[in-house]
Amino acid sequence: MNNRNWDGFKELVLVDKIEVCTDIISFYFKSKDGSKLVKHKAGQFLPFKIKTNDPKYKDVIRTYSLSMFPNEDIYRISVKKINGGLISTYLHENLNIGDSIEAMVPTGLFTIKNKNNDTVLISGGIGITPLLSMLYEESAIRNNIHFIQAVQNSKMHPFKDDIENIAKLKNIENTVFYSDPLSEDVEGVDYDYTGYVNKDFLKDNVNLNSDFYLCGPPPFMKAVESILLELGVDNSKINYELFSN
Ligand SMILES: Cc1cc2nc3c(=O)[nH]c(=O)nc-3n(C[C@H](O)[C@H](O)[C@H](O)COP(=O)(O)OP(=O)(O)OC[C@H]3O[C@@H](n4cnc5c(N)ncnc54)[C@H](O)[C@@H]3O)c2cc1C
Repeated sequence: MNNRNWDGFKELVLVDKIEVCTDIISFYFKSKDGSKLVKHKAGQFLPFKIKTNDPKYKDVIRTYSLSMFPNEDIYRISVKKINGGLISTYLHENLNIGDSIEAMVPTGLFTIKNKNNDTVLISGGIGITPLLSMLYEESAIRNNIHFIQAVQNSKMHPFKDDIENIAKLKNIENTVFYSDPLSEDVEGVDYDYTGYVNKDFLKDNVNLNSDFYLCGPPPFMKAVESILLELGVDNSKINYELFSN
């Protein structure tokens, strides 16, 4: 079988499990048989089911965006535990190093369309995962990128150090909004703005001729999309991924 693609399901084994912040854990998988994986396109997701005989989980498929630099050796997904959520809870509480999942080949159309254009990546909460993969890949070749991350506060702030390092090293604009800062979170030091991503900010700080890529909770995406449209951004330049199955 060609490694570029596999048919049906391929067994992947969990090789590492790392807490990212409150409620979010990253899971690292390699192929069970040692074969190469398919190098995904940044922004694509991995559909999979848990390898188990427990009928509760057996044939339940969920999809998670790949959150790492595209490569053929290891996949990383980063999962937020949803209250009462079947698979996210299983992954957090029951999937241990050495356990397997059965994955389909990475897929999805939420990928960078034009690498020459200025690009604005805007995430809310766990919606960061596909955009982070894009940031890793794009920042290796260009710096006309503005990365905008909206989260609640420092406890719910995934990949802060990683993104700050890339932004500093590659001279990439990075803006962080906290909607509900903790008493110890200092505006201007730990994050940039209190509140939500808003019209004044986008009007004054972002090139509106850019290509926009959005991922986050539906109300967040609706709000950001309507602001962009109000500001005259062409519909065709707004790309988004919804996390609802
Ligand atoms: C293309 C795509 C990419 C995705 N990438 C990621 C990712 O990178 N990281 C990640 O954590 N999740 C991601 N998701 C969401 C993920 O696939 C699951 O939907 C999520 O983990 C919930 O599954 P569950 O089995 O735990 O919950 P379920 O048992 O399916 O749902 C339990 C309850 O939670 C509610 N619920 C379901 N999903 C959500 C949600 N996202 N937010 C709030 N409530 C919800 C349901 O309405 C239901 O009431 C992605 C989804 C899609 C479609």
